[in-house]
Amino acid sequence: MRRICRRICVTAVMLAAVAANGFSQEAKTQDAKAQEAKKLPVPDERYKLDILLVVAHPDDEAAATSYLARAMDEGKRVGVAYTTRGSSGANDVGPEQAAALGNIREIEARRSLASLGIMNVWFIGGRDTASQDVLQSLSSWDHGKVLEEMVRLVRLTRPEVILTFLPGTFIGEDHGDHQAAGVLATEAFDLAGDPLVFPEQVTEPMRRLEPYFDNLRPWQAKKIYYFPDASREDIFKGKGPSIAVTGISKATGKPYWRMALDAFRAHETQAKAYIDSFAKMSEEELEKTARDNGWSQPQEFVLGKSLVGGSVTGDIFEGITPETIPFAPAKASTVPAANEPELAIELAGPWGFYAQFRRAHGLENLPHPEPPEIGLQARSTLVVPLWLRNETNSKQEITLTADLPAGWKVESGDGKFVVAAKQVAALRVEISLPALKDGTATKQEAQEATVRAEANGKAIGTAQLRVELRKKALPQ
Ligand SMILES: [Zn+2]
Repeated sequence: MRRICRRICVTAVMLAAVAANGFSQEAKTQDAKAQEAKKLPVPDERYKLDILLVVAHPDDEAAATSYLARAMDEGKRVGVAYTTRGSSGANDVGPEQAAALGNIREIEARRSLASLGIMNVWFIGGRDTASQDVLQSLSSWDHGKVLEEMVRLVRLTRPEVILTFLPGTFIGEDHGDHQAAGVLATEAFDLAGDPLVFPEQVTEPMRRLEPYFDNLRPWQAKKIYYFPDASREDIFKGKGPSIAVTGISKATGKPYWRMALDAFRAHETQAKAYIDSFAKMSEEELEKTARDNGWSQPQEFVLGKSLVGGSVTGDIFEGITPETIPFAPAKASTVPAANEPELAIELAGPWGFYAQFRRAHGLENLPHPEPPEIGLQARSTLVVPLWLRNETNSKQEITLTADLPAGWKVESGDGKFVVAAKQVAALRVEISLPALKDGTATKQEAQEATVRAEANGKAIGTAQLRVELRKKALPQ
């Protein structure tokens, strides 16, 4: 008993001491002046953008400059990000090539944009990669590295709207780098607002002159719009705003399209003869050329997504107010498992990637051609990348055959294949393409190549590609 009692007494003394100490601390705090909490840093307003244009190469900005000239006139803050410095391709002016040509093209792009008053211009360091395969471009650019840079740029410039190439494969110019710029911009749109993505970018320095943390804030842009790299226009009609660019700029007294055309004159290494031809034209001839070449046509955009409402074809800034909006993770959609057949054939490669990309980024409404399409050089090889899915519990013998236009020939990849139970097999059918029927034409009408899959005498499905033969085209 005594022992317990003593213990209680000791505890009581300790508690009393703690209490007394606590009270005295509280008294002290009341006496001292409250410290002022450190204010959150205010971002550098000089780099705040209303519009961030994301393109692949110097001169790509011309796809949007007549709209940008109009937006600048309306007081919008505009910046441009190039994902490469355009170091591939011919030089129309001098002997410089490769990285040296990239140095020149960077200056040409800066001069072009400076003529419109656009000074915030970044190059995020991907390699100019000449193919039609978006995955090749992303790989050649070191996808993770350039994505980190793109997310950093979105957090730094805090754009309300992002404009970029439409991510998809089309008959058209269809440069893999253009598509990859659209992929990267979409990824950054969906990720820059997430503080867990590249968290070091949104971390405050621990010490003065901390060299590792960017001290940026997460940023959720409000809308993303695309412009296609396709020859066809049908599937994009009514999918976004159509903006007239024949208005007269308050700043220069010139039509917006004319400012864009004049800005293009800086790209001499890419189009010297075309640019020189302007100088020989009368004003009327120039206006006609501008109409024929699309400079003065309305600028068409495709709405990717809006987090602030507004109509599909309404003004780009419809629904946008100065208030910031919270991070909105991409609304991914999934294919209901019930809709997946047990045996299936699917296009893989870039086509398979885009089907997944559209679902993952909530872009199911993004126009894409059905059947999928590509423009290829005559006398080259068409590669049809395929997945064969066998979700049954037994191995299956699957036979692939190709239905091809006259003169097209399977080189390899058809015949019988055994696909194990629960296996997805990757295959490729290679098809040699003939010469153009008319040797003097630059292209001929697109035709379809169909790969059919059969198992146990029953059709499983087909993979189709619409292919336009051209005199010249980027490699697949
Ligand atoms: Zn380009």
